[in-house]
Amino acid sequence: MINGTATVVGGGIGGLAAAVALHRAGWKVTVLERAGRFTEVGAGLSLWPNALRALEMLGLREQVTAVGAVERCGGVRDRAGRWLSRTHAAELERRFGYPLLVVHRVDLVEVLLAALPSGALRAGAEVSAVPEGDLVVAADGMRSVLREQLWPGYAPRYAGHTAWRMVARPAQAPAEGAVVWGRGARFGYTTMTGGRVYCFATANTPEGSAGPDGEYAELRRRFGDWPDPIPALLAATPPDGVLRHDLYDLPPLPSFVSGRTALLGDAAHAMTPSLGQGACQALEDAATLAACLADAADTAGALARYDRLRRPRTQAITRRSARLGRAGQLSWPPATLARDLAARLIPERVTLSAMAPVLGWGGRPGPIV
Ligand SMILES: Cc1cc2nc3c(=O)[nH]c(=O)nc-3n(C[C@H](O)[C@H](O)[C@H](O)COP(=O)(O)OP(=O)(O)OC[C@H]3O[C@@H](n4cnc5c(N)ncnc54)[C@H](O)[C@@H]3O)c2cc1C
Repeated sequence: MINGTATVVGGGIGGLAAAVALHRAGWKVTVLERAGRFTEVGAGLSLWPNALRALEMLGLREQVTAVGAVERCGGVRDRAGRWLSRTHAAELERRFGYPLLVVHRVDLVEVLLAALPSGALRAGAEVSAVPEGDLVVAADGMRSVLREQLWPGYAPRYAGHTAWRMVARPAQAPAEGAVVWGRGARFGYTTMTGGRVYCFATANTPEGSAGPDGEYAELRRRFGDWPDPIPALLAATPPDGVLRHDLYDLPPLPSFVSGRTALLGDAAHAMTPSLGQGACQALEDAATLAACLADAADTAGALARYDRLRRPRTQAITRRSARLGRAGQLSWPPATLARDLAARLIPERVTLSAMAPVLGWGGRPGPIV
């Protein structure tokens, strides 16, 4: 086992998870975060079985499970509200060891922060060049400054659609989660703890556009007549609590490693959220990085192995998420009809088998998606 001083740039979910994994492996870790404090913007987050396995490797699965809600059943509905496909937690758990857990991002970050010594955390520390350390983890997000320095020219690509996220507090939370597929638009919802419902929506829009009278009004205009429980969820959303972000992914990088610097999370492989895998992959990165360092005789060998294990997998998942996003955002009516019909005809066991390369991650080299 090797260890020493590790500097983690970026205190998002990826950076904090890497810091926890390295700290547990005996590294002296410092996390440098540009923002004035360590927290997350954003609403909910889906943690799939592969993420729960990574959290298990970080020693945090139970703590995260305690702040999350298991989605008992979820699936896809068409614009009229009919179910096209459904997945049950019991079946996910039977196949992959864990269910789908939905957490509030802030709660996940709290668990990660609590696992780190307070001296390891430096807020208000913007990094502009590769810092000191036997190991540097560049976890500074999709617009990573360190990536741009080490691998210039890999700018994020706009996916052609935007996303809104919010937390609703309806009188009654829906018993089942769903993503409703429309024409060039989707609306999803899933229940978190405390009766809170994480909602998200997407629509095909030009890059950089904004709702003329605010994003809440824009959402009600676009989704107010969608099937139940969407109107009630919108009515139970605080108008100032709607976040909007255009969606991007990164072109495939030739390497995640340069010298003693390893890219991790969105800095390495930002992906569109259709598979709900961006943060899950960052957690896998963190657990894998620490495992590679624990097994290797030297840092260079460990980082080369990290790159070999993580790059093909995350780049394949990025492509797959983009494909699913394109299908979800189809707008030509005959194409949406064909898509919905195909989704209706595929049985749950086939859907889950198709997801096995993503969800069945075992913490070790596995099949490429
Ligand atoms: C609409 C939407 C829904 C999503 N849903 C899911 C989901 O359900 N499940 C899932 O797994 N993933 C989901 N994701 C993806 C997930 O949000 C990201 O993959 C994940 O948050 C990436 O974490 P990160 O730590 O790599 O990057 P970030 O969260 O971007 O963190 C980077 C950190 O680095 C800091 N930083 C940046 N530059 C510097 C600098 N120069 N110096 C110091 N600090 C710096 C930033 O302030 C930030 O705190 C979703 C994404 C979107 C947009």
